[in-house]
Amino acid sequence: MTTDYFLPIPYGQQTISDDDILAVVSALRSSHLTQGPLVSLFEEAFSSYVGSKFTIATNSATSALHIACLALELGLGDTLWTSPNTFVASANVALYCRAQVDFVDIDLETGHIDIDALEVKLEHAALHGTLPKVLIPVHYSGSSCDMSRIFSLSLKYNFFVVEDASHATGASYLDSRVGSCKYSHMSIFSLHAVKVITSGEGGVVTTNDSSLATMLYKYRSHGITKQATEFLTSDPPPWHYEQHHLGYNYRLTDFQAALATNQLSHLTKFVEVRTNIYNYYQQKLANLPCQLLTVPSYTSSSFHLVVLRLLELDRYSQINLYNYLRTNGIYSQVHYIPVHLQPFYLKAGFKPGDFPRAEHHARSCLSLPVFPTLTEVQLSYIVRTICNFFTK
Ligand SMILES: *Cc1c(COP(=O)(O)O)cnc(C)c1O
Repeated sequence: MTTDYFLPIPYGQQTISDDDILAVVSALRSSHLTQGPLVSLFEEAFSSYVGSKFTIATNSATSALHIACLALELGLGDTLWTSPNTFVASANVALYCRAQVDFVDIDLETGHIDIDALEVKLEHAALHGTLPKVLIPVHYSGSSCDMSRIFSLSLKYNFFVVEDASHATGASYLDSRVGSCKYSHMSIFSLHAVKVITSGEGGVVTTNDSSLATMLYKYRSHGITKQATEFLTSDPPPWHYEQHHLGYNYRLTDFQAALATNQLSHLTKFVEVRTNIYNYYQQKLANLPCQLLTVPSYTSSSFHLVVLRLLELDRYSQINLYNYLRTNGIYSQVHYIPVHLQPFYLKAGFKPGDFPRAEHHARSCLSLPVFPTLTEVQLSYIVRTICNFFTK
């Protein structure tokens, strides 16, 4: 049998056009493959897109999260809180800094950190002297958490807020873009190939705080500064540079920055197509025993993920739907195995049952294919296959 759609269909895929390729080729033909002018050009373009004062580009979102924590001086004796419904990196960065991790359970409607639960946990922590130094809310699937509520809690309990916006490039919250840091100290984005825009591997920190920005630039590059105004040596020679902290090599290359800048010019269109795909699924799957995660009215989503939740698990299980789709050439995915259930975190003392809503989410969710080059034929095939699963 021949088919007019392309199989298999992954849950996510990069969209690279000819102008992306030309931009990378031109960077490769230039004098600088790294530490040239293209990284700053990308940083300026990103800042102007999200509306932040500063953008610091890195070689991954994981390194972006790491230097964000270093800039906040997260260290031994401190605690970082995040959502269990995230990629492991949001939690691991605390351990890179020798701090401790704890989690706050999620809201099942959105998959975001549950702010009521956060409030209760903060009250309790305040009484016991165990308040976090840093909170990392995760903009799961591409819609924003309710940041103004989170930010007012941070003022009351005196902790820093770092948005993990790895999913949310191109999303907005109230009247600003995610990344404007109107209600946080820093925001982190991922430029990994499966995310909304890509540089292959890459990441971004945005902030409006110039002293944090100074630290971020240094931590990205060995803790070294080449800025004469920051030198501790008086009358330095022209080749002088100084290491002030223990930093890393977390730099993005110029040819990656060229790709990222060109991808950014496609972002509005990418999000528009992703939104149309979400609306299509929403409409076509309406009468089945499943539902898509809700996008609250205070945010517009970038739809990095379209997450379906199964509602009658004893009749229609996650693994049966997953396998049925896979047999038919559709590769869905589970986002996420709760971080605290990873063997590494179980060994650290977390237990099944610690965050029951995140665990329920992980048992009942599947991420459906969503990416700009998904064709109408593929989309209607996916919807037909899901309908067949429920009616077969
Ligand atoms: C992808 C992702 C990361 C890590 O991004 P990298 O660029 O691969 O390091 C961190 N947090 C979340 C929520 C992610 O989805």
